[in-house]
Amino acid sequence: MNDTILHFYRGTKGMGIVISLTYGHERIILDFGAPFSPLSEIYDGTVRIRNENKVTDALSIGRIPEVPGVFSIEDLKDYPFLSYEECDLNTAVFISHLHLDHMSEIDKLAPEIPVYIHEDGIKLYEALYHTGLQENFRSCHSFSYQKQMQIGKICITPFFSDHPCPGSSGFLLKTPDATVYYSGDIRFHGMKAEEAFSVLDDLEKEKIDLLIVDATTTSPSEFHLDPSLYSFPSKHLLPGSVSEQNIYDHIFSTLKGYDGIGVFNQYERDTSMMKHMIELGKKLDRNVFFEPEFAYILKQMHGIEVPVLNEADIKEIRKHPSKYLLQNSYRNILALSDFDGIEGEYYHLFGEPLVEGTKNWNVMRNVVEKLHWRFHSFSNLYSFSHAYPNQLAYMIEKIGAKSVVAVHSKHPENLPSSKSDQFFPREDKDHLLKNGELTEI
Ligand SMILES: [Zn+2]
Repeated sequence: MNDTILHFYRGTKGMGIVISLTYGHERIILDFGAPFSPLSEIYDGTVRIRNENKVTDALSIGRIPEVPGVFSIEDLKDYPFLSYEECDLNTAVFISHLHLDHMSEIDKLAPEIPVYIHEDGIKLYEALYHTGLQENFRSCHSFSYQKQMQIGKICITPFFSDHPCPGSSGFLLKTPDATVYYSGDIRFHGMKAEEAFSVLDDLEKEKIDLLIVDATTTSPSEFHLDPSLYSFPSKHLLPGSVSEQNIYDHIFSTLKGYDGIGVFNQYERDTSMMKHMIELGKKLDRNVFFEPEFAYILKQMHGIEVPVLNEADIKEIRKHPSKYLLQNSYRNILALSDFDGIEGEYYHLFGEPLVEGTKNWNVMRNVVEKLHWRFHSFSNLYSFSHAYPNQLAYMIEKIGAKSVVAVHSKHPENLPSSKSDQFFPREDKDHLLKNGELTEI
């Protein structure tokens, strides 16, 4: 039967995305990540992962959804489920970016299934694995922006997205009877906002039947302002919104002419921020030191050599703290004790711990307080990494798809209304996409 069938395995109620689009015997799976739930995560580093049972364990605790035909017979053991070997679909998996809620489970897929990641994403994946910051690894194929690929009768074109993770992509999928755009994670207030907006000009020209869009900031619990006040379409940053540039400006103004040390904590997967911190160091006439893992990632991703902190530097920094800016990860927070007694400013730039309200967040705050340093944080992770509601509304209006499905949000019903009809697909059902309408089958 040649119809375009969509299945939203995960992502219609929150983070962690797994969506399939099938046409005939061809199937594209968009992202393959576990839900992001920092307060109830079982794989928290304490519980031992049983590698020999990794697929069946992940299926039974719901870490991965039951997608038929993607797990090998060997991994499924006695788990009663259609294996890769027994399935007649030709499957390819496309990953929008390297954040865990989009790709953490790809190591569980049968090795024969091709997984595609943007060329910069693959570089990051390899660098993270090399440094031990990515636990598991599987081989992947690369793609470039705007380069069309053909999987059977399905044509897929990746587009740039200005999410903080390198190689972030959205995907335009065309079957003989439907056109779908999956946005991946998006925002329009990063350092490449103009490029992100220009993608909308390209998408506007396509006759898109269904837009599957990242709507994270429609949830009041995740947006740092009141989303309802920001839900009318506008390209601009409204009062209260924080841009990435605003953050660098704040760091610059608080460190300029300041006698103490500057310390920042950022996420190893968001490498463009590392580059900007190096530039900021130059402007402030401060040497920027990175931990060895971050230095390695910077070298691999951007060809930049940066100094790594050693014992001799610590003495020097204590003598002249105003000449230094240090990257520090939460796992190495005790290294800050070396600077006890000197003044400091600590900037939480969305590194681990990622969100407020977790135990580790409180520990981080305690350490900074004991050092008598000033703690700076900005909006929150969700607002920093995802489109503000007014820009999301602008995007939806501009693309002008016949219909829309909000994903990556706990409250998809809060999606700003538009000319696109909103559908709320159930996660356990197939849906037929015909003439821009999604119908459960
Ligand atoms: Zn995400």
